[in-house]
Amino acid sequence: MNKSIKRLGIMGGTFDPIHYGHLVTAEAARGEYELDHVLFLPSGISPHKDPKTISDAQHRYLMTVFATLTNPYFEVSRVEIDREGVTYTIDTLRLLKEQYGADTKLYFITGADVIAEIMSWKDSSELIQLSEFIAATRPGFKFQPEYVDQWFFQQNKHLHQLKVPAMAISSTDIRLRVKAGKSIRYLVPESVEYYIRKNKLYIDKSDTQSEKNEAESVL
Ligand code: ATP
Ligand code: MG
Repeated sequence: MNKSIKRLGIMGGTFDPIHYGHLVTAEAARGEYELDHVLFLPSGISPHKDPKTISDAQHRYLMTVFATLTNPYFEVSRVEIDREGVTYTIDTLRLLKEQYGADTKLYFITGADVIAEIMSWKDSSELIQLSEFIAATRPGFKFQPEYVDQWFFQQNKHLHQLKVPAMAISSTDIRLRVKAGKSIRYLVPESVEYYIRKNKLYIDKSDTQSEKNEAESVL
């Protein structure tokens, strides 16, 4: 653990796959808030997504490592994917606070679509006391409903707003493109594109999953 880190960005996500929307957002937050590092945290079993529809954690982790390799300020953590059972952001923030110490300020980075959901996350009031929260613009999503802003304000916290160069990219769209045989060039780093092709990810997820289920039921 690098103890000289005073301002740590945290970019959580499923990263299935990681794309330029994530990378641009993390880099914009780093510049704007003078973050020493941005830690990418591929999610484990999320309470918000169906685990059956998500690629193996190891694939998502490796793609995130490849995508962030060339940025000396970016790091990837396995803390969420290695945790047993459902992972909650509150547990991760408590752990990071412990690991980095009280002198390190945490900045949790999210897109405009996720920020409104935070109020319903586990121990949300404690969550926003442990970290600063940055809501980044994301094309297709309203910047941020006022009630989220107010909710932060009521708890003496300020929700940071960050304008990032517009990137109308989503992992869902990339998965659909791969499945349909369309190009994903310039939407993801080349290394991620190669990884997807080599491992035949997203070709036909539902079939693969039902085959897997069938195979398991035979055993
Ligand atoms: P999916 O379509 O599978 O939900 P996604 O593209 O939304 O994938 P996630 O892994 O769910 O990616 O998102 C991780 C974080 O990155 C979230 O906070 C999300 O709001 C943010 N994010 C994702 N894409 C963008 C984008 N194009 N611009 C800004 N923020 C983004
Ligand atoms: Mg998403």
